[in-house]
Amino acid sequence: MDAEVHVLVFPWPRQGHINPMLQFATALVDAGVQVTFLHTEHNLRRLAQASPPHLRLLSIPDGLPDDHPRGFLDFMEAMCTTGSTAYHALLLSLVSASDAPVTCVVADGTMPFAIEIPQELGIPALSFVTHSACSYLALLSMPKLVELGETPFTADDLVSSVPGMEGFLRRRDLPRGLYCTDQGDGDPLVLKFAEVIGRTSKACALIFNTAASMERPVLAHLASGTSDVFAVGPLHARSSSAASASLWREDDGCMAWLDGHEDRSVVYVSMGSLAVITHEQFTEFLSGLAATGYAFLWVLRPGMVQLASSALLREAVGAAEGGKGRVVEWAPQRDVLRHRAVGCFLTHAGWNSTLECAVEGMPMVCWPFFVDQQTNSRFVGAVWKTGLDMKDVCERGVVERTVREVMASDEIKAAAQAMAQQLKHDVAEAGSSSSELERLVRFIRELSI
Ligand code: UDP
Repeated sequence: MDAEVHVLVFPWPRQGHINPMLQFATALVDAGVQVTFLHTEHNLRRLAQASPPHLRLLSIPDGLPDDHPRGFLDFMEAMCTTGSTAYHALLLSLVSASDAPVTCVVADGTMPFAIEIPQELGIPALSFVTHSACSYLALLSMPKLVELGETPFTADDLVSSVPGMEGFLRRRDLPRGLYCTDQGDGDPLVLKFAEVIGRTSKACALIFNTAASMERPVLAHLASGTSDVFAVGPLHARSSSAASASLWREDDGCMAWLDGHEDRSVVYVSMGSLAVITHEQFTEFLSGLAATGYAFLWVLRPGMVQLASSALLREAVGAAEGGKGRVVEWAPQRDVLRHRAVGCFLTHAGWNSTLECAVEGMPMVCWPFFVDQQTNSRFVGAVWKTGLDMKDVCERGVVERTVREVMASDEIKAAAQAMAQQLKHDVAEAGSSSSELERLVRFIRELSI
């Protein structure tokens, strides 16, 4: 262990941020760096798995009671007040510790305070971006797009002012808030995100959980900016047993259920850890899936479908034509995606899910929900061609047609497998992401002197 370098890693306390930053922390530990990983007290109590070895876990309060729903704005407010004060105090004690003081911070690019506080204290801080580089650049460009009048964001017109994405990015692929509307003045949630990452882009480096082979032109553009840029992903592909810290208990029973199915005969359906759908959308998905005739495994978190209990949903899926559906509240997703019985993933195109698919060579049907997912899904459908993008359409006929097409397409399967091969090279020794990780560790060591 390198006695002089001690990195504090601090994710935005949500599932899609904790996993990649935990994998990043593990990569630093593997490189001989001492790491402390910071959770909130609420999450630390919920964690379903043991922490990876050699990683010290600490926690701070987020100021909300355990049963609070932690909606984005309330949660951000709590983290920026109670969370930020506790973080400041903790950081002061960690940097002045007589034994192995913290020398550097890697904080989530979603939390400006987590980067600005160490900088004020004279500690180098790097920003970890859990989104794709393409959606990051699209988000950064939003205020300018509004200023230039490249609106409304529901239109098919091509966007010309996001570098590296000319020719295929449409207005409707730009980051979006919760609802698809004619956002002439810009969606407030998206503009808030744009402001946040505009601030954290002033960190002394930006770390992306992506590979150059996936997003080369966009990364090249970002690297021409002021901060150093490192593309070190997909981090979970570095090892078959990559670390994760699940906030829900995984239902392993679905693996035995998958064992009972033919190769590539099941559709896996999940919208990640945040999306909430209406009952009408649930019904359209269910009818479309049932009409394909394929078996399907569907993750429906408690509370994920508005105004419907888990038991009712399970009953509805069980009663759907042929009874071929299985519902779980939380799946061991990476294991599911590498199971031979799964033929495609109907997903919201969250960046972790997109990367997990890419690494397994799994074709995707994308139904992006919000923010970065709109841009990711455009890359899947129009750039990588590893799946199809349903965009904002949620109709049973479209669900059926798109799933059938992806399950049957040899071209999509071949593109997905070629991408998986490339990513294996990228994370292997001397591959581009591995080399970037080594360069990053050297960079952190130099900052820590
Ligand atoms: N995930 C999981 N089991 C599930 C659903 C999701 O383990 O049943 C994990 C998934 O593997 C991914 C993360 O939760 O690592 C979701 O992150 P993503 O960026 O895809 O979406 P978000 O939850 O941030 O919208």
